[in-house]
Amino acid sequence: MRPARLEVPTRGHCDFVDITQLVRTALEASKLRSGAVLVYSPHTTAGIMIQENADPDLRRDLRLALELAAPDAPPGGRFLHAEGNAPAHVKTALVGSSQLVPVESGELQLGTWQAIYLCEFDGPRTRQVLVRFLADAA
Ligand code: ZN
Repeated sequence: MRPARLEVPTRGHCDFVDITQLVRTALEASKLRSGAVLVYSPHTTAGIMIQENADPDLRRDLRLALELAAPDAPPGGRFLHAEGNAPAHVKTALVGSSQLVPVESGELQLGTWQAIYLCEFDGPRTRQVLVRFLADAA
């Protein structure tokens, strides 16, 4: 099964983009019926998260919690990374760079309230998302 490469534009410095439908479309094209889909961000300041898709306030809350975990001006110190975007790297480390989603009967096995998000922490820019299709052993 050929891997897919998605191009995902982000809109703000911090942005959570729901890429579930893009992944679903790539899965359909792959013809994978049973196995798993790997969704991977090859970036150090953008990650992949599975989270609730119903309440937009929750995405705001997640952003706030990540801001508190890695604020631009950390209390009692400062980040040393010369590029000046250490908080974006820390948030990406917390979210992670990939998610693995099981596939049954050609469908993503996401829960009712789950969506796959590209999490931008140093945008806006256009990000790549690599998608690999892993078939169950015969
Ligand atoms: Zn950096």
